Amino acid sequence: MNKHRSTPIDFEEVLDDMEDEDQNPFNLNEKIENLKVELKNQQKSMTVAEYNKKRAIFEYLTRLDDNGKGKMKASTEAVQLVFIGGGPYKARSIRYWANYWLQYNHLPVNHQGKHKKTIRLIDDEDIAEKCHIWIRFQGGTTTPLKFKEFVENKLLVDSGVMRKKTISVATATRWLNVLGYFFQSQKQGKINYIYYNDKLIILILILFTLKIGTYYDGHERPDVVQYRQIFLDKIYSYEKNMAKYEGENMERTPPTLGPNDKEVILVTHDECVFYSNDGKRGVWAKSGELPLRKKGNGRSIMVSEFLSEECGRLKLNAQQHQENPSVPEEARTYLQPGKDREGFWTSEHLIEQVKTKVIPIFETLFPNCIALFAFDNSSNHAAFKSDALVASRMNLKPGGKQPKMRDTVFGLNNQHQSMVNENGEPKGMKQILIERGLWKNGLNADCQLCKDKIDDINRIDCCARRIISLQPDFLAQRSALEEVILEAGHKCIFYPKFHCELNYIERYWGAAKRYARENCNYSWSGLQCTVPAALESVNIITIRKFARKAWRYMDLYRKGITGKLAEYAAKKYKSHRCIPDYVLAELNK
Ligand SMILES: [Zn+2]
Repeated sequence: MNKHRSTPIDFEEVLDDMEDEDQNPFNLNEKIENLKVELKNQQKSMTVAEYNKKRAIFEYLTRLDDNGKGKMKASTEAVQLVFIGGGPYKARSIRYWANYWLQYNHLPVNHQGKHKKTIRLIDDEDIAEKCHIWIRFQGGTTTPLKFKEFVENKLLVDSGVMRKKTISVATATRWLNVLGYFFQSQKQGKINYIYYNDKLIILILILFTLKIGTYYDGHERPDVVQYRQIFLDKIYSYEKNMAKYEGENMERTPPTLGPNDKEVILVTHDECVFYSNDGKRGVWAKSGELPLRKKGNGRSIMVSEFLSEECGRLKLNAQQHQENPSVPEEARTYLQPGKDREGFWTSEHLIEQVKTKVIPIFETLFPNCIALFAFDNSSNHAAFKSDALVASRMNLKPGGKQPKMRDTVFGLNNQHQSMVNENGEPKGMKQILIERGLWKNGLNADCQLCKDKIDDINRIDCCARRIISLQPDFLAQRSALEEVILEAGHKCIFYPKFHCELNYIERYWGAAKRYARENCNYSWSGLQCTVPAALESVNIITIRKFARKAWRYMDLYRKGITGKLAEYAAKKYKSHRCIPDYVLAELNK
């Protein structure tokens, strides 16, 4: 048995990508009609293999029902119609060809011949070197088409190779791969806001996500893994009071609630930027040599959105809106970032959105439920209110530039303490510690170890700032965002860093961007029309499937499966919300 011989390396990926999303039926019917015409008119110019594959795709697609369901049955029937013999593996191949064809408009490159002992031109060192020089000279603007033109018009002519004057784009693409160049998509820079000594510092972090998997440095860092465990314990403590969405149609199974329990609904948040020059998805580059994307004059729209499995996008329908005229219609907020437009998106914007839109809409839609709002672990979301108890904002002595903090309590008897003295000045760390009986002679504001950020949980009284920061009231200080949510009677959780697979809204952005690419001319006015349409194009079943995938990852991590194995299992058991025990036993072998 050698059934994997002709399976291309991207087989699983293409199948997985495509099965996760729903086809636009209008587009699909048009494509099927075009294929029918092609099969009829170009029959003679196609090879037998090509004709059979395209015919199989046609027979398969026409047999799917209006919702794109019934894949197994349709592909099995297509096998029987087109091929002599051929079982489930052939049916699976048809599904792969069809998905590939729908995505790229041509059949996958035949990999069967790749182990043949022919010597390719590109294997010649001199030829490869000439290609490398040309590619480098292009400064990140190489495309397979431009490379093909170079090969045909320059390389083959200069090398005296006259036998074959043209190469296909597929060959050019393969040669680029042989030379170590791969198509890499880029993620734009993320803007973070950090307070340091009470001054707002804006950090622009350029993060790249290579489209080769979810995992990169940081995912398994000890502090991140430790926090992931805390996150999982917390989210699963709420999960038993949440509805579950499973099955082919992602139907709701309500939670079994105790007499004093309220249903909990997970509402996930993220921000995403759509650029008017997003049309170009990425560049051809060597791994690790990804050039910065030139932003040029590309304008952008930022979207801050909230999703739940219960209702998809957090918004009221027409009737709900009419019955609740004081509640905004939808939670989504747009911002056009950049100078001279609306300025930057800050934690204040997000808090305003949560206060005025998100919580009122949620409470209108789900009157007796508790929201569990989930946010990325960004410093923007961790910003404190100006009067919050934050040790890093304090001076040792009274007065000066330190903020006036809110009153607090300390000690076993919850003794009241004001953070300002009689003349309205902030007391400073020394006075606060004296009043708590924690001051020691010779204590400095900071010690060298703390300044050097050398962390040691056993070092608890090295300097005034350390002692104060470990006081229970300071440890319990919540961010401004969390305070707003807790005051409204809801809950809040922050995803672990580097774990974008757990925030399913990332897949929602992906689907919306794919729609935007296909439907936008990327002019500024085009972008303004397309972004809302792109977001609305993702339906609730798809959103629930995205969520199911995130739950599957959480289940795997909770059961101790991480890294590549988790990625494999999350893809393989795509219809499962959690991983069945027999699979777990298999994975743990
Ligand atoms: Zn210290």
